[in-house]
Amino acid sequence: MESQIVINFIVKYFYWAFLGWIFMTLIQRRHGEKGIKKRMAVLYQAILIFLVMVYATILKMNELTDIYLIIAALAVVLILFFGRSRILPYQRRCRVCGKKMSFERVFYYDDPLCKEHDTEEIELREEVRKKIKEIESEEKEEE
Ligand SMILES: [Zn+2]
Repeated sequence: MESQIVINFIVKYFYWAFLGWIFMTLIQRRHGEKGIKKRMAVLYQAILIFLVMVYATILKMNELTDIYLIIAALAVVLILFFGRSRILPYQRRCRVCGKKMSFERVFYYDDPLCKEHDTEEIELREEVRKKIKEIESEEKEEE
């Protein structure tokens, strides 16, 4: 542990990871109000990555070795443990039927509901279907 191998790795790559995470929150925007918590979670994760990067940079500047990263690792574990409902709010299974949900459902939607049990989404889909029918029948009348 007398090296700076891990420190150098973090300084070099966590910045890109941080950017990637921020980019992910932009992608999540298209799910709007149905995924606010999931977006905040990714933002918290990004902040955590950023803080670890800053800490590693400080270690590097002071020529300290990898052993000091144990403090950061412990801090991260504690933060993840006590903040897990906010930072890692991921459930694999639907709240109603217990079926495993798709990747998209797990990472983008706040409510742990599968496609068949997400009533809001079903209503929305029904409305769209009605609108399409209305437009179609109007077009027929015009003919
Ligand atoms: Zn379900």
